[in-house]
Amino acid sequence: MHNLDINLLSEPVSRWLIHCNHFFKESRFCTQLIGKFRRLYLVNFRKGYVRKQLKRRKGECHQCGLCCTFLFTCPFLNRLRLCLIYGRCRPNVCKAFPIDQRDINEIRLCGGECGYSFDEEPLEDKKEIKKEA
Ligand code: SF4
Ligand code: SF4
Repeated sequence: MHNLDINLLSEPVSRWLIHCNHFFKESRFCTQLIGKFRRLYLVNFRKGYVRKQLKRRKGECHQCGLCCTFLFTCPFLNRLRLCLIYGRCRPNVCKAFPIDQRDINEIRLCGGECGYSFDEEPLEDKKEIKKEA
């Protein structure tokens, strides 16, 4: 009888877990929320990694302004999609965007294409980053 109850429960629970997993993977809100915290963490506590990534970064910003609209539209973004505090007190986390391919993928999730790109990391660098983490 006890086993029967567990079996009855397990299917809805596993369906719910699959649904949650799918939601977190596909939800733009969750991706952007995690992305914001991730970048804040990297810029403040993984400065070496950020420096290395910025050296590796190629291309340029074409001022689409998409990265300024993650979760909410930044109040410093004007109607021409320009930053009102650019060159004055723009936060480091904005200066560093995109830090890596995950940030570029976030832009793609919003239907945009960032002007920056990254080369594939050499294998030894990937190992180094894992060790640092
Ligand atoms: S998404 Fe990329 S190209 Fe667009 S404003 Fe941000 S950094 Fe610039
Ligand atoms: S401060 Fe400037 S660069 Fe940073 S999100 Fe706002 S508008 Fe964009």
